[in-house]
Amino acid sequence: MYEAGSDCGVEATMLKYLAADLAYEVADQAVQTHGGMGYAKEFDVERYWREARMLKLAPLTQELALNHLAVYGLGLPRSF
Ligand SMILES: Cc1cc2nc3c(=O)[nH]c(=O)nc-3n(C[C@H](O)[C@H](O)[C@H](O)COP(=O)(O)OP(=O)(O)OC[C@H]3O[C@@H](n4cnc5c(N)ncnc54)[C@H](O)[C@@H]3O)c2cc1C
Repeated sequence: MYEAGSDCGVEATMLKYLAADLAYEVADQAVQTHGGMGYAKEFDVERYWREARMLKLAPLTQELALNHLAVYGLGLPRSF
């Protein structure tokens, strides 16, 4: 859609929201699967978990993504 020149802010924001949630869910499951070793800094799993958590904060938070969808996707009045 972007390459075709169409406005895809709503679609991109929906995907960002879902991808951030899914990445965190998957990384969290990886920690659980590895048990205590999944939490240890010496192994990559901890870093994946921490970095996946960051996706819910940056480049915009999940709450701000929902705000964007409410206004530009659903046409609701701006609440912030
Ligand atoms: C690793 C990392 C890299 C980053 N890199 C960049 C970068 O390269 N460029 C850049 O510009 N920024 C960058 N950021 C900043 C990032 O965009 C902000 O951290 C993010 O937008 C959240 O803003 P804030 O930290 O000021 O939190 P705040 O805005 O203070 O938010 C705190 C909490 O309140 C919630 N909240 C705030 N306002 C509302 C509202 N109106 N409605 C509902 N909930 C609300 C938020 O969702 C959040 O949960 C980076 C952040 C991190 C962690």
